[in-house]
Amino acid sequence: MKRDIRLAKTLLLAVMVSVSTATVWQLWVARDQTLAMADTNNLNLAKALNIYAEGVFTQSDMLLQGVAETLKAEDDRHEHLQRVQSLIERQKPLLDQLDGVAVLDAQGNWLLYSKGHVPAGTNSAKQAYFKHHRENRSNDVFISPPLRNPFSGEWGITVSRRLEDSAGKFSGVVVVGLGLQNFLRAFGAIALGSSGTIGLTTDNGKMLVLYPYREKDIGLDFSGSANFQRHFAGTVGTASFRSSLDGLQRLYAFRKSDRYPVLTSVTLGRDEALKAWRHQALLTTGVVGALLAAMAAVGWRLIVNIGRRISAEASLVAAREDLLQANRRLAVLATQDQLTGLANRRSFDEVLSLECRRAVREGASLSLLLVDLDYFKRFNDTYGHVAGDQCLKAVADALQLGVKRPGDLVARYGGEEMAIILPNTELPGAMSVAELLLGRVRALDIRHGASPHERVTLSIGAASLRGMQASGAEQRLIETADRALYRAKEGGRNRAMGHEEPLGGRQAA
Ligand code: GH3
Ligand code: MG
Ligand code: MG
Repeated sequence: MKRDIRLAKTLLLAVMVSVSTATVWQLWVARDQTLAMADTNNLNLAKALNIYAEGVFTQSDMLLQGVAETLKAEDDRHEHLQRVQSLIERQKPLLDQLDGVAVLDAQGNWLLYSKGHVPAGTNSAKQAYFKHHRENRSNDVFISPPLRNPFSGEWGITVSRRLEDSAGKFSGVVVVGLGLQNFLRAFGAIALGSSGTIGLTTDNGKMLVLYPYREKDIGLDFSGSANFQRHFAGTVGTASFRSSLDGLQRLYAFRKSDRYPVLTSVTLGRDEALKAWRHQALLTTGVVGALLAAMAAVGWRLIVNIGRRISAEASLVAAREDLLQANRRLAVLATQDQLTGLANRRSFDEVLSLECRRAVREGASLSLLLVDLDYFKRFNDTYGHVAGDQCLKAVADALQLGVKRPGDLVARYGGEEMAIILPNTELPGAMSVAELLLGRVRALDIRHGASPHERVTLSIGAASLRGMQASGAEQRLIETADRALYRAKEGGRNRAMGHEEPLGGRQAA
């Protein structure tokens, strides 16, 4: 029964734990899927923007190459700067980002600026791109971190190329300025939430353009950043880490250009990326939580009910046990004599009637001994009733021990008289039992100063029947035994008498 409760509790717990585990697991998988989806989207966007950036740089490079070729072919540069100017004008509509094109001589002096007159003495020899080309013989383009346009003051990045004369000697730099605003306008058209960013950096981590634009981000350099080195190592990839700029956890995706030393990155605030998932997760948790609570409540009620049923059953069993015990006690009380512990008169009557009928039916013999204590009134008078009762009890025990067969019954017949039913016993047998009992009681040696025998003795009347008429058999048996008892008393007591003649009787000493 207790096991049932334990089983129910275990079952309830198992169901709740597995539902919770399955829910948590499912939410976790959904979260991973959401993040993976965001990564995929970011990566696709980074690849597309990389193609866009490559397009811009290719366009710029073609313009640079055109200018460089023109200027290389013509030794007299000044004469042909005009032609360069018109070349630039033709290219302009193809390149939205184009802010301006400048041609610098070998000393860094501005020879030409596509957007207007150059004041005399304008020199950019100190600019990084100029130094780079002067010191590197490479014909690759150089992309510089943001710098201000010396005329408009606007921020932009530059794409530049080395100029050489026909002898292959450094003869200046041709540089294309790309306005940051133009990039920012293009990046701004893409929806990336409130904490998403799009960045264009050199492949070694110098920031070129960062959307959304903040003046203070100009000139950022991630080349020394551990995050940049660790997470942006390959050509393409995704990562998630806390931004060193604003401390926000973001999802990053990047693509490095195969053709230019630039890297395009797209980021999304991780909280924002998980917003829809979080909403769904809260809803699921609420529904599952309510379900679990309902399940727990119902389960608990069931368990409590089982417990109640079990204790009700237990008390029912206990009550039944008590009743049985009481019944057994009652049954004993109904058949037993309280003082002596012998069968009482009622059960004597029942057994005698039963045995008589059986004896008559089976033609068997049946004997009855009527036993009476001698001079017992005097015993009471001499020693008191309590001693009398004790004596009665001792005699009863001796009688009980004296009869051996299972069918024999010793009963208290009334007062100090006892009766013994001996089934299947003829008179001689009954007489020998009577003699044995006389001996046993004598052997108790209970002092009886008021008796001529000086100790407690018995008189016994015995009667037997065989083949008597069924009706009134027990009555006749009792009367016969009673007569024999009377004769025993008459004969001097302390003896047994059969209903015909005394057997083994003893005269009073
Ligand atoms: P006898 O039988 O030898 O003729 O003399 P008696 O004194 O025994 O005479 P009788 O059988 O007539 O007396 C019965 C007495 O037994 C009466 C009473 O004092 C005593 N007696 C009967 N029942 C009880 C009992 O339950 N307890 C005690 N203590 N005495 C009892
Ligand atoms: Mg008597
Ligand atoms: Mg008597």
